Amino acid sequence: MADFIAQLRDIVGDRGLILKEELSGRSAGYRNPDKTLDAKVLVRPANTEEVSAVLKLCNDNGQAVVSHGGLTGLVDGNIAGEDEVILSLERMREIEEIDPASSTMTVQTGVTLQTVQEAAEEAGFFFPLDLGGRGSATLGGNISTNAGGNRVVRYGMARDMVLGLEAVQADGTVLSALGKIIKDNAGYNLKHMFIGSEGTLGVVTRLVLRLRPKPASQQTAYLALDSFEKLPKLLNFCNGRSGGCLSAFEVMWQDYFKLVTSRDGAAQPLSDEYPFYVLMEVMGGEPDTDGERFENMLAAAMDDGLMVDAVIAKSEGERQAMWALRDDVESLRTWGPTIGFDVGLPIASMPDYLDEIDVPIVAEWPERKRAVFGHLGDGNLHIVYAVGEAGDNAKKLVNDSVYHPLASRGGSVSAEHGIGLLKKDYLEVSRSPAEIALMKQLKGMMDPNNILNPGKIFS
Ligand code: ZN
Repeated sequence: MADFIAQLRDIVGDRGLILKEELSGRSAGYRNPDKTLDAKVLVRPANTEEVSAVLKLCNDNGQAVVSHGGLTGLVDGNIAGEDEVILSLERMREIEEIDPASSTMTVQTGVTLQTVQEAAEEAGFFFPLDLGGRGSATLGGNISTNAGGNRVVRYGMARDMVLGLEAVQADGTVLSALGKIIKDNAGYNLKHMFIGSEGTLGVVTRLVLRLRPKPASQQTAYLALDSFEKLPKLLNFCNGRSGGCLSAFEVMWQDYFKLVTSRDGAAQPLSDEYPFYVLMEVMGGEPDTDGERFENMLAAAMDDGLMVDAVIAKSEGERQAMWALRDDVESLRTWGPTIGFDVGLPIASMPDYLDEIDVPIVAEWPERKRAVFGHLGDGNLHIVYAVGEAGDNAKKLVNDSVYHPLASRGGSVSAEHGIGLLKKDYLEVSRSPAEIALMKQLKGMMDPNNILNPGKIFS
């Protein structure tokens, strides 16, 4: 063991090692704020060559490695055991190049999402990936989980924002494919093996990101609807009328809207009497006329009976207050312990699904609390249950009730958060035995010694 640490030290130097006894000062991350990290050692390489040498050493010794980004994950995909090595990309946070002609940014993967967003903005571009953890979440984490967020309806998931990628395989082989082109069909597109595989197939070290034109205007509104059936109609109507510029269509069921607007000092954009609310955003390129066009679109939707009330943000302050309501998941803490879900299913199946999952839960806990909100345009719902202090059996009952009804509806147990440790037992709800067998075959081929984030996604 002393010998192994010494060999690591030879690769990364003193600055690149944090020993077990020094880890107690480091938080285990967003989902485990009261815990500190535990591992055999935390290693912080400074470049791709060092990542490669570290992985080769670990592979030769059958040493398990858990790679770390900003620790904002929600499925415990970053949990390390006391005998595992943590590989943190925190010293690899450089923005290496912005290429205006190709609209690309080349980065090391330890850089935070917010830093990338700000650098894009400064260069006159826009990087559309956005999520609540932007200040801590790293691009490496975003890519290894294929993060989603609020603008997927227009710009896609993290996967859709990556043109080139460099990854280190388990045995230390560096796969460098840092191309800048959108069209590239030269054989298998291997970058996708590393995107969304939660650190189990390789460690992504550098990325070429696709930048977008900076929007010249942002129009934001809260809308109220009196029936679920009108939600997809309103979505399609606005998507069409805005010429593909609709950038967010966030839906809140009344229970969630009531909770977030009842907090002290919270904005009250609309009365809380309606069953459904939408936070809508359109990003356009004509600042002089976009506002009027947005108002006309909403007026037409109102005339068609697609919604019953609306309020448009008149200032940047009002716009931010509207988003703060949507993002105020912290208010769920007033319910005590909660169990959260991130499921995907076709829009038309949602009302009936939400009724079905609630039956066994209400039977067990008549006083249960529930909040539902999500990225409706992406078929993604976040569901949060509060049933009081729940032991393992109670949690299993809630999990079973929420996950199993997805199978018959072609749904997903994870729309955007990943599987990690938390959802392992339910992977088979969304994936067939043939799919899981192929996943395991790929894992066995790319990481034969099973050193990369072992035990995550599947056993
Ligand atoms: Zn989300």
